[in-house]
Amino acid sequence: MRRMGAVGIGIAVLAAAVALGSAPAFAQSCQPQRTIQLGSGDRIGALTPGYRVAPLQDREVILTFDDGPNPETTPRILDLLKARCLTATFFAIGGSAAKHPELVRRELAEGHTVGGHTISHQDLTTLTMSEATEEITDGFVPLLAAGGLANLFRFPQLNSTPALLNWLARRGMAAVSADIDPWDWAADPPHETLARLKKQLVEQRRGVILLHDAQPNTAELLPDLLDFLDGQGYRVVGLAGPGARSPD
Ligand SMILES: [Zn+2]
Repeated sequence: MRRMGAVGIGIAVLAAAVALGSAPAFAQSCQPQRTIQLGSGDRIGALTPGYRVAPLQDREVILTFDDGPNPETTPRILDLLKARCLTATFFAIGGSAAKHPELVRRELAEGHTVGGHTISHQDLTTLTMSEATEEITDGFVPLLAAGGLANLFRFPQLNSTPALLNWLARRGMAAVSADIDPWDWAADPPHETLARLKKQLVEQRRGVILLHDAQPNTAELLPDLLDFLDGQGYRVVGLAGPGARSPD
């Protein structure tokens, strides 16, 4: 019963935060970044069947980082993005966010979008409906406590179900998959991961890029990736969930 109570509170907080919305802070010295605004029930990212391709123009990419925050690697990634006036979307694991709320606050303060990625990163397709929705709502609680919104969600391993997608949509949320997945979690040497990423990017010329801020190799390869994007004329675009206002 106590567990159910906690979930009920989570949903109530969630609804309140979606209704309120907030404008992300953006560094004063940076030019406003183009932002793709998602609506309730939207599903973007071609790697998952049934999701739509993100409305990006040629040579536009959205950077996403999953499975943080991590005190060793997330600050390095935030430093690199800040130095180039770029914003990204972080799909944080609730358990890690509860341990490192200061990193979630920093992500939000520096204009990044923070989305949910469950409390403990289980494959939701292996759970009952109530277990899965509890994983989702519990995962949002530390993000809301840090000042975030509960309006964007990414499924662990990108594994979703129609019932869970409908559940998210009824609560005013959008689901984000990806278009470009360089398997940075595989812990290959950074240059190998970067080569895979470049190959997909050259073929597709746009898309949501899936990376992991908890991976040391990803922090390692990020300067070269950002140089490549810049050199090839790509624009990094921000992402905002339903109910959020774009920074400009
Ligand atoms: Zn993940």
